[in-house]
Amino acid sequence: MSFKIPLFDLNFDEREIEAVIKTINSKWVSMGPQCLKLEQKFSAMIGTQYSVSLSSNTAALHLAMIALGIQKGDEVIVPSYTFVASANSIRYVNAIPVFADISGVHDLSVDPIEIEKNITSKTKAILVVHFAGFPVDMNAIMSIANKYKLKVIEDACHGPLSEYKGKKLGSIGDVGCFSFFSNKNISTGEGGILTTNNEDIYQKVKLLRSHGMTTMSYQRASGHATAYDVVDLGYNYRLDDIRASIGNVQLDKLPGDLNKRSQVRRWYDKELKSIDSITVPFADNNEFVSNYILPIVLNDSDIKKREYVRTRLHEEGIQTSVHYPAIHQFSVYKEFSYPLPNTEYVADNEITLPMYSGLSELDVKYVVDTLRSILEDV
Ligand SMILES: *Cc1c(COP(=O)(O)O)cnc(C)c1O
Repeated sequence: MSFKIPLFDLNFDEREIEAVIKTINSKWVSMGPQCLKLEQKFSAMIGTQYSVSLSSNTAALHLAMIALGIQKGDEVIVPSYTFVASANSIRYVNAIPVFADISGVHDLSVDPIEIEKNITSKTKAILVVHFAGFPVDMNAIMSIANKYKLKVIEDACHGPLSEYKGKKLGSIGDVGCFSFFSNKNISTGEGGILTTNNEDIYQKVKLLRSHGMTTMSYQRASGHATAYDVVDLGYNYRLDDIRASIGNVQLDKLPGDLNKRSQVRRWYDKELKSIDSITVPFADNNEFVSNYILPIVLNDSDIKKREYVRTRLHEEGIQTSVHYPAIHQFSVYKEFSYPLPNTEYVADNEITLPMYSGLSELDVKYVVDTLRSILEDV
């Protein structure tokens, strides 16, 4: 089905195409100079010392767990209201995900009070998710982490260039992890990056990205090395230069893209204000944010009503999504599950409206007018 207004649109043009052609013509298409350039640009952008390009954010989260020494039986506190990969990364190292509830319909971030309540002698780390690009209360998180000597992993997939008190998201905890999946703010098809100020973490992640080998094929091919040793049990989590060259163009376009998204968000805010049967989360935010998605929550609603509203929107040519079904309610997470009332309400009643830099004021008006008239007769 093709929609009048899709949920998301790629910000691609001739520049991405040219970058790919150039990389192919260079005859080096696996990890090489384009990946290195992407890492340097990314660190400069986020304000961190080190970045490691990877095949996905899931790979970044997995390597973060290993590099931070998270092991079998350790507990890691994580929101359930996020993409499943956030919690999966904890289980890859046989640690235990301990789910913390979100603050509520006005603030979909994990609640620091709920985090502190769940701390035990086994807790080793907190994994936070900056939902939709809006910052978690990092002062509260870092002070809990300092008090209990915990590591902090920022799953900053939604928030490249988003800010918290003058710092970029992903630069505040021990590590920041980002995704370049096609529907994110920076799209390369698949891809991700881990960023940190800790040199030990950086070296460990770089080693594990490529089989635990001491030299890389690009170094050998360019005559800088011949032999290698394998000093750790690593993975193949590399990005490649074709994707990295797209990423380098996307990074250049990101500030302009986010400025347009901020304008789209303001149009939405103005129009959505007149609908009192919904809550627009993060209305109080004053920071610069990425506006990765535009979530709304239906008031006094249930999942049946939400799905009815979405179906009607789809019939009018407006594509929507749901971010997210709660992880603790998935079959494979049954053994880690207990009631999380705020998460469960939002998971059942959230609707993600179209958000991308190419939306016009007229598009936004059409989406909101259609939503308003649907909500008036349910
Ligand atoms: C997209 C996303 C992931 C997964 O990223 P991949 O690059 O697809 O592995 C994890 N967490 C959050 C919050 C995401 O939005």
